[in-house]
Amino acid sequence: MRTTARRDGDSYVLNGAKAWTTHGGHADFYKVMARTSDDRNGISCFLVPAGTDGLSADPPERKMGLTGSATATMRFDDVRIPANRRLGEEGEGLKIALAGLDSGRLGIAAVACGLAQGALDAAVAYARERETFGKPIIEHQGLAFVLADMEAAIQSARAMTLHAARLKDAGRPYSREASIAKMVATDNAMKVTTDAVQVLGGYGYTRDFPVERFMREAKVMQIFEGTNQIQRMVISRSLAKDNNGSIS
Ligand SMILES: Cc1cc2nc3c(=O)[nH]c(=O)nc-3n(C[C@H](O)[C@H](O)[C@H](O)COP(=O)(O)OP(=O)(O)OC[C@H]3O[C@@H](n4cnc5c(N)ncnc54)[C@H](O)[C@@H]3O)c2cc1C
Repeated sequence: MRTTARRDGDSYVLNGAKAWTTHGGHADFYKVMARTSDDRNGISCFLVPAGTDGLSADPPERKMGLTGSATATMRFDDVRIPANRRLGEEGEGLKIALAGLDSGRLGIAAVACGLAQGALDAAVAYARERETFGKPIIEHQGLAFVLADMEAAIQSARAMTLHAARLKDAGRPYSREASIAKMVATDNAMKVTTDAVQVLGGYGYTRDFPVERFMREAKVMQIFEGTNQIQRMVISRSLAKDNNGSIS
């Protein structure tokens, strides 16, 4: 992290850039992590109002999906904010960021379950209606088994997501479970939405049906809030340490 926040009297002055800012250019406030010193614990957190002098957004990224939410690089060019806009103490930024990630991962897992369910619902509706070789395609075992695997993948993802959410509600450690839920639910959503396109055949590949969009939307969830490779790192590191206080 190279964006800096330099203390100057009753203010901080921020300089640098942040790529991939969700709602960049549209938000009213930005929660910004910046370096207040060079050491390992030198990251602090600030709340920067939109419209502050020196704060600007690049043009939004041209994405394959998630078009309802702009994503842009934010630039900080001598952005001066009052010191009371710092959230937490100096040096607590990383702790604040990591705490947000666990619940963020649960949120993504839940969204992935809903997306996959939407894809399955569309696929089942189509498979009941579309007939080939004299019967609805849902009655061809080869296709029916694809639908069965989709249902199993969704139920597994939902169960894992609810397990992690229950740990959170109970005030118990849930970092590892949030990573597992995020990884399983988004990998399953990618598979389920891709299979939904297959179930609809040629129409699945058109914009006349929603499943091609579901497939595009699923992809980003394997990438943001920590890629699924990073989730595997989190999970394997927690195994290397201890059982993280989790239920297994
Ligand atoms: C639509 C969208 C919205 C986003 N919104 C936000 C946001 O609001 N805030 C925010 O901070 N970020 C946001 N991001 C950024 C997102 O979190 C990153 O893109 C993501 O974490 C991956 O980082 P990267 O793009 O730098 O990929 P890289 O880190 O360059 O990774 C490239 C590939 O290498 C793999 N890789 C990297 N390191 C390792 C490793 N050590 N071991 C194994 N594999 C590895 C990755 O898994 C990936 O497959 C958003 C991204 C997108 C696409």
